[in-house]
Amino acid sequence: MFAPWQSIPYNNRVSIASPSLSLRLHDLWGVGSERKTQLEKLELKTVEDLLLHRPRRYEDRRHTRQIRDLELGEATTVRGQIVALGIKRFRKGIKSIFEFIIDDGTARLHCRWWNMPYMERYFNQGDEVFVYGKPNSIKPRLIDHPETEVIEPGEDSSIHINRIVPIYPLTEGLSQRWLRGFAWRALAQFGEKIEEPWPRDLLPGWLARAEAVRLLHFPEQIDQAEKARKRLALDELISLQLEIQRRRKTLQDSSSALPCGGDNRFIKPFLEQLGFRLTAAQTRVLREIRQDLSGAFPMRRLLQGDVGSGKTAVAAASALMVIESGFAVTLMAPTEILAEQHFQTFSRWFQPLGIPVEIQTGSRKTSKDSDRALLANQPDLLGKPVPALGLPPLFIGTHALVESAFEVEKLGLVIIDEQHKFGVSQREKLVRKGRYPHVLVMTATPIPRTLGLTLYGDLDISVIDELPKQRGVIKTFLRTSDKLPKVWEFIRQKLAEGRQAYVVYPRVEEGGTGNLKAVTKEYERLQQLMAPHKVGLLHGRLKPGEKEATMTLFRQNQIQVLLATSIIEVGVDVPNSTIMLIENAEQFGLAQLHQLRGRIGRGAHDSYCILVAEVKTPEAQQRLKVLEDTTDGFRIAEEDLQLRGPGELLGTEQSGLPPFRFADLRRDLGLIELARNTARKLSAAKAG
Ligand code: ADP
Ligand code: MG
Repeated sequence: MFAPWQSIPYNNRVSIASPSLSLRLHDLWGVGSERKTQLEKLELKTVEDLLLHRPRRYEDRRHTRQIRDLELGEATTVRGQIVALGIKRFRKGIKSIFEFIIDDGTARLHCRWWNMPYMERYFNQGDEVFVYGKPNSIKPRLIDHPETEVIEPGEDSSIHINRIVPIYPLTEGLSQRWLRGFAWRALAQFGEKIEEPWPRDLLPGWLARAEAVRLLHFPEQIDQAEKARKRLALDELISLQLEIQRRRKTLQDSSSALPCGGDNRFIKPFLEQLGFRLTAAQTRVLREIRQDLSGAFPMRRLLQGDVGSGKTAVAAASALMVIESGFAVTLMAPTEILAEQHFQTFSRWFQPLGIPVEIQTGSRKTSKDSDRALLANQPDLLGKPVPALGLPPLFIGTHALVESAFEVEKLGLVIIDEQHKFGVSQREKLVRKGRYPHVLVMTATPIPRTLGLTLYGDLDISVIDELPKQRGVIKTFLRTSDKLPKVWEFIRQKLAEGRQAYVVYPRVEEGGTGNLKAVTKEYERLQQLMAPHKVGLLHGRLKPGEKEATMTLFRQNQIQVLLATSIIEVGVDVPNSTIMLIENAEQFGLAQLHQLRGRIGRGAHDSYCILVAEVKTPEAQQRLKVLEDTTDGFRIAEEDLQLRGPGELLGTEQSGLPPFRFADLRRDLGLIELARNTARKLSAAKAG
């Protein structure tokens, strides 16, 4: 079964063809079993692994700094001769400092290692050494725990000195010198065997791959190392794009789509009773989805829309097309709270149409016939008739839907809400419950387009780029905690006007670290502070029943303030709640804060988001200010991407992407685009 998130790992290892590159390292030049073990810790097994072992930095040993020119806190390489060395012990010998002093004719430098007395073994008076580190004092000149390398007499100067040298990630027992020499020999013997993976004329102006590998290890100019990395990154991205395109083709060749375009008989009345008109963006996206659902290949579509853009209504209309066509639908949400909310919303929307809606979460299940009957007999919110028999149902669930033995007959469409919250394998399992069902994944995490090309390269993307009109504005304020009394006063005033509020803390209980506010402890205090308004408590450790009871009371405005952890981050929709107070806001990522803020601004009243944070650095201040300045999820996502990398933005293991050796999704957006175009050309050439 094809899925964009298939658990078969993507292969981004560029084959550099020649069989000699797959030779095992331990069959080569004096690599014994001890070395073999060390190399394997670095995942270096073959010649190819070694050739692609990426240095973590470079040291320009042609121009080392003079010791007298060292500056405080600035990482520098110097070279000198050890003129004195020894160990000082204190606290009855429990603690020790190993120290040596080097002299380069301009000045002396002290190098110290704390509690590593064995360092003494590696150095002798008179040794020439390179030392790299940040001076922590200038009078006297001192570096603690520097990186060092002894220059051996008769050294082959073309490898280790008088040039730019690579500094590799190492493991216990391996030395830079040894590994560098090893890489050098590997290049000499096998460098020529590295072949071009793609026709050269596809990448005009780029380094040849063999040249890139050589310069990766031994650049002659410092900028060549980066040029080499880019070429190798491009190769990784091209192979990934090829793989994505290959999978897409496999899907199209091996499957035929279920005809799910619908006949409008449910959609029409649904839209009439919805209570609002779809935005132009929602309508456009629905048209794209309808085309997919009646097309020749199973739909694989990502629906991207900022928080509050109305993805749920689009999901509902898509589900109706499929149900009209006689197929069942499943909708998976990442939390029970959200699943329960969807259950209520969809029941209200679908039951008047006679469509059965069922829920299955860890704690609740209505999918047995008896339950179904029970549910059907309850008058629904509109007092409409019970579901007619025979229509295919909508199943709503959490990951429990995936884990259970639950099976769906004639599964036509799988909808995954807040897809970035799911693990790769969970999504895949759900899709496998059917036979090539259509798939719609929805996310409020707006990712930059180029990144989307990598992460969701095999999905078509629809974007809702417009919020419903008649929304109040959201104002965002950044405050320090000494302003809290004023903030509480403001909130009380809004409650008195009939609005509701969320108060979010990062943790459930008082943790060991610092003075993170904790919800359980604040609960009592807040109750007094907000009286006579009522406060409810919501966090992940409550029993599901308790959570739902609290949410229901909040929805019905019997509770005015909801004190919660970030559990409410996804999906919760209570339009009368217009205040979002987030304490210890510095603990959250920007995208997460944006999601939390998305819980308000859902009704006609103006909304207020107050971020309370103790920001100690200008950078931290600047980071949070982005939220004050904009409610544009895309800008915030870009910012988060730069600050924290794609892992934070997308959930670390969720992306389903291979780890890259050379590509960096933060910096290489331009390469992604080029990789995609190149892969296209390659596929076209192959097909034609
Ligand atoms: P999200 O995209 O974050 O999942 P929701 O689907 O929860 O957003 O929609 C947010 C709110 O906006 C809901 O209360 C929903 O009923 C309402 N809504 C959705 N579409 C429209 C529209 N076209 N006009 C007015 N309100 C809408
Ligand atoms: Mg939603």
